[in-house]
Amino acid sequence: MYINGEWIAAQSGKMFDVFNPSDGDRIGQVPDGGREDAVMAIQAAGEAFKAWSVTTAYQRSGYLYKAYQLMMERKEELARLMTREQGKPLKAARNEVQYGADFLLWFAEEAKRVYGETIPSPRPDQRFIVRHEPVGVVGAVTPWNYPVSMITRKVAPAIAAGCTIVLKPAEATPLCAMAIFKIFHDAGIPAGVVNLVTALDPAPIGDEFITNPGVHKMTFTGSTAVGKLLARGAAEQMKRVSLELGGHAPFIVFEDANPRHAATGAMLVKFLNTGQACISPNRIFVHRNLVEAFIQEAESRISRMQAGNGMDDGVSIGPLVGPEALEKVQRQVENALEMGATLVCGGNRLTEGGLDKGYFYAPTLLADVTPAMQIYREETFGPVAPVIPFDSEEEVMEMANDTHYGLASYIYTRDIARAMRVFEGLRFGIVGINDINPAAAAAPFGGMKESGLGREGGREGIAEYLETKLGGFSIR
Ligand code: NAD
Repeated sequence: MYINGEWIAAQSGKMFDVFNPSDGDRIGQVPDGGREDAVMAIQAAGEAFKAWSVTTAYQRSGYLYKAYQLMMERKEELARLMTREQGKPLKAARNEVQYGADFLLWFAEEAKRVYGETIPSPRPDQRFIVRHEPVGVVGAVTPWNYPVSMITRKVAPAIAAGCTIVLKPAEATPLCAMAIFKIFHDAGIPAGVVNLVTALDPAPIGDEFITNPGVHKMTFTGSTAVGKLLARGAAEQMKRVSLELGGHAPFIVFEDANPRHAATGAMLVKFLNTGQACISPNRIFVHRNLVEAFIQEAESRISRMQAGNGMDDGVSIGPLVGPEALEKVQRQVENALEMGATLVCGGNRLTEGGLDKGYFYAPTLLADVTPAMQIYREETFGPVAPVIPFDSEEEVMEMANDTHYGLASYIYTRDIARAMRVFEGLRFGIVGINDINPAAAAAPFGGMKESGLGREGGREGIAEYLETKLGGFSIR
């Protein structure tokens, strides 16, 4: 673990193993931290906050810029580690390291743009000044599916704002987290500003973040269930919270769209990271007149996808993270088929050619999916594309918004008025319009409804780590 500028063991002396999800090989061992380690890290962050919070924005920017440069130099090394630890194809891992590094650069710049305000007062003898101050010590928890970018998307704005941070990465991907904190160390970030606690059991660490009065803000990316648990706990001390939670993205293909173009986009974004993405389309609504052409193109795309170890050339489908993920996908597909869905392709676990040691599932296309099926409501987080026919814009808008989630959504249309209407009508934090990658460090990412609170990236990203302070000055 990395606490107060030093690499240390867990106080219990315990370690846990890290495995490659493609073949089950053990690839490392890391300290198994407990509550006592979280306490120590929070203390270190609290001490460091005193000096860090009064550094200049230019100094903080300098450290972030250095970290960005180091991450770019170590891009290939980090990408290879990610493929071994998380399973995504090497090309996708390289893209993710770039995306992760982009947050370091973006917030190196934003650090210098935390502007205040003067506000006219109704009283002639009064002046109002607004300034922004760092929230304090941040407790952060991140998931395994994007093990580099989900860390920099929190740490970069936090330290740019003048906060200090304790981060607990996912138990499946602590090695990527360690490699990133090595970068922070090598960039010369002062001791205690960034701290890393690895742990096999996340609950005591999360609980310490919530209950320890030395933590002033919680930021979490992961499932809605855990996000709610942490938010409920944080309310006890009115800690600030930012939550990036699950999604159930609709992907709508209108009658005027080019079905081949839409199918190409849908399949690319659906099978990204083997469907293990919070922005993964979970309900693909296709206008009834286009269903046949859409399915034909989608099936042809899927037939060219190759599953396997992400280190191998040509592989675009990696393994699922573990046995529960595989079971969930199998259960959802079985349920859909029992309830009348049509299996176009896939629908089975992949075991041939040495894949039996990992958790591989064939990229799957289901047609005739209905709202009664589990897959229509539950986040899949796996390589299954469910197609649902629709007849009118009004009907599909109702169906698309009929979910507790509100993270990403996608539409394909060539009608500009419709694009604007639907963009405005969708209750989702992100809408891709003829576009499958509406995300970048410069853009605010986040969800409505049960998909979360707050935004990461963009101008909004740093605001999550700032308090607003009003000064009322009498000039008499
Ligand atoms: P998860 O909630 O099980 O785990 C996420 C993190 O929370 C891990 O670090 C885990 O150790 C930790 N955790 C689990 N229980 C905890 C507890 N009681 N206290 C404190 N920490 C705890 O989710 P997951 O399955 O690892 O990740 C997938 C989920 O994350 C999906 O729902 C996905 O949509 C979501 N996600 C959202 C975004 C986004 O930006 N909105 C990005 C990536 C993933």
